[in-house]
Amino acid sequence: MASKSYKTTCSYCGVGCGIIARKNAKGVITVEGDQDHPVNKGLLCSKGMNLHHVVQDKSDRILYPEMRWSKGHERQRVSWDQAFDRAAAVFNTIIKKHGPDSVGFYVSGQCLTEEYYLVNKLTKGFIGTNNIDTNSRLCMSSAVVGYKQALGEDSVPIAYEDIELADCFMIAGANPAWCHPILYRRIEAHKEQNPDVKIIVVDPRRTQSCDIADLHLQIIPGTDVVLYNAIAKRLIDRKKIDKNFIANHTDNYESLKEVLSKTSLTESAKICGVTVADIKKAALFISNAKGFLTLWAMGLNQSSIGVNKNNALLNLSLLTGHIGKPGSGPFSLTGQPNAMGGREVGGMANLLATHRDLGNEEHRREVANFWGGKEISPKPGLTATEMFDALESGQLKAVWIICTNPLVSLPNVNKVEKALKNAKFVIVQDISHRSETLEYADLVLPAAGWAEKDGTMTNSERRITYLNKVVAPPGEALPDAEIIWKFAQRMGYQGFNFTSAEEVYKEYCQMTKGTNIDITGLNYDRLKTEGSFQWPVPENGHSGTARLFEDKKFYTDTGNAKFIIPKFTKPTSELVTEKHPLILTTGRVRDQWHTRTKTGKVNRLLTHIPHPFLEMNQVDAFLRKIKDGDIAVIKSKRGKVQVKVKVSDTIGKGVVFLPMHWGKVLGNDYGRANNLTTSIVDPISKEPDFKFSAVEVTKFVKP
Ligand code: SF4
Repeated sequence: MASKSYKTTCSYCGVGCGIIARKNAKGVITVEGDQDHPVNKGLLCSKGMNLHHVVQDKSDRILYPEMRWSKGHERQRVSWDQAFDRAAAVFNTIIKKHGPDSVGFYVSGQCLTEEYYLVNKLTKGFIGTNNIDTNSRLCMSSAVVGYKQALGEDSVPIAYEDIELADCFMIAGANPAWCHPILYRRIEAHKEQNPDVKIIVVDPRRTQSCDIADLHLQIIPGTDVVLYNAIAKRLIDRKKIDKNFIANHTDNYESLKEVLSKTSLTESAKICGVTVADIKKAALFISNAKGFLTLWAMGLNQSSIGVNKNNALLNLSLLTGHIGKPGSGPFSLTGQPNAMGGREVGGMANLLATHRDLGNEEHRREVANFWGGKEISPKPGLTATEMFDALESGQLKAVWIICTNPLVSLPNVNKVEKALKNAKFVIVQDISHRSETLEYADLVLPAAGWAEKDGTMTNSERRITYLNKVVAPPGEALPDAEIIWKFAQRMGYQGFNFTSAEEVYKEYCQMTKGTNIDITGLNYDRLKTEGSFQWPVPENGHSGTARLFEDKKFYTDTGNAKFIIPKFTKPTSELVTEKHPLILTTGRVRDQWHTRTKTGKVNRLLTHIPHPFLEMNQVDAFLRKIKDGDIAVIKSKRGKVQVKVKVSDTIGKGVVFLPMHWGKVLGNDYGRANNLTTSIVDPISKEPDFKFSAVEVTKFVKP
């Protein structure tokens, strides 16, 4: 048999690169970039290039269901029937005794859209609780709120093709060179061909993305709002705003102007740790631009004032009228491959499918009628951190964790560990034994991974792509969608008689009819034969929608975009003190992904940065008698970490950086950054603040 090739999509970041996976006669898989895919045009980054190893190496895979018959006993292999019986019995008993809000699902931006849709339908429409949240809460929920407030719906307005049409970029709180490499490559190539293109990077660290920057605003962590407000004031004062757009297509400009009139550039520069000249320079670059793109990620979103930061940045696009036209717009980068798909199907505790609102009675009725299950509760469910708090307090009795590793990725993980210990029942559905969370699972369900199932995902530009099944899953592993629909059937719920992901997709498509994310014109056949499409795709033959709001009609009640006045300014995270005088910020490195359950087993990816490290400014290191390569102990109020120090001038004085990927290595958690991070969240988006924890660093001394 000759080798066979399959078009599919990378399952790492939200860029959504097209991949050709080839399987030879012996079943060996190789991958290469899809030359025809509009996102990457054949390119792949180091993670994408090594994706086949994840499928090929089955040494760590969960092959069959495992169950603990009672707490304190070892898990044993069981059949799927036994697993479903137990899961249904436990859920039924708990729900009967304590009500539907006593159970919850914690899922992932790596789930396919069909899986995300099903688990939402099950939870909100049939169990009768909104306790379904996702690890995407940890990376983009502040952006969701920002878009809803300013534009009326959670709608990323741009297309990647705007990159080649823009002449000014503001990359804020993001390091695409390492975290979204193929998009970065497109920006870099555009700048190489057009040296007049201006690139502003806003980041407390001088990251690899600064290599192409014309201006690096190295702000003090948490001061972003002050910076964007100062730039906005400068634009207004210099009359470099789009008066026509503001007058005809926005609301609330006068209020914003009034608030900004009290802003002092000198004072703002001092708060942010930059110069007035640099604020003016940023405003000049923006005011000279014909196309202005803002790109942002976790630096803005993962903050106790994440929504305010989003509001302040979105205001720059609205003030200059840079939205709904080629080369322009606000563009939030999603970290996970299907964070966007999850948002579309309402995969969060406060959302409903198809951008309908949980707080809207009519919307709840429409969704409930469509599903034919229970009335949908108006009460928002527990968000990611709230869910684990509720497990710790005993309010939540059982949690079902799908495709995520909260024992490494949630903030303040020592608290998460207590919560999991305290839970009455924990189900973990995953592909790999590498997930630390398995330690606390009473029931483990083996799931199919990338290339072992089919379905769809949506990338950061609203592009829906189909993922092919290339090989059969190992052992008894099943696609996540099948696990969910089989469990729902076992619970006795109607409406889950699916036999394929395509049937689930068709149902979801029908639900989008008439909404702003209508994809009734897009079916699996089109996706397989014509490729990927950006939503909305409202009728058959429709070629998708590259850019939203070209007609300047926004999804708000007035049809205008809204200036939201960001409520201040100072970081409301915990304060640095004499005992904990340094600000810890966490983030990613180039070749690792999330909690390393996939990348951690790929040798080629371990050569880049094999171990966790602390990046520390040379002055701070000198004051603590710490040299490059020394081992340091980093302590916060919540825990400690012990890693080697990288002394550097790329990070500002008073700030230290730890990568977030490492959990328990060889049984110890010395490098687990979230031992230190705070549980503080943004009050609206409930996104945790991974970018601001107070710590102290000392040199490790052998006892
Ligand atoms: Fe995969 Fe993202 Fe790399 Fe593209 S940029 S190959 S989607 S990890």
